[in-house]
Amino acid sequence: MVIKVNETHYPNTCIVCRENKLSGIRIWGQFVCIDCEREIVQTEVEDEKYPFYIERMKRIWLDMIS
Ligand SMILES: [Zn+2]
Repeated sequence: MVIKVNETHYPNTCIVCRENKLSGIRIWGQFVCIDCEREIVQTEVEDEKYPFYIERMKRIWLDMIS
């Protein structure tokens, strides 16, 4: 599966932290700020925050296929 990731450099609302950030990436057309993207990448499966990120990512996925 190809995941389209584009870097953006204008204000967007991050779908994870809901804050307006300047730098980030677009995954499946949804904006994820660079801070959250880094956090998601570094989060271990045992981490208590992991289900939170998975939930958010799942929502992107569901938005995309619906
Ligand atoms: Zn964020």
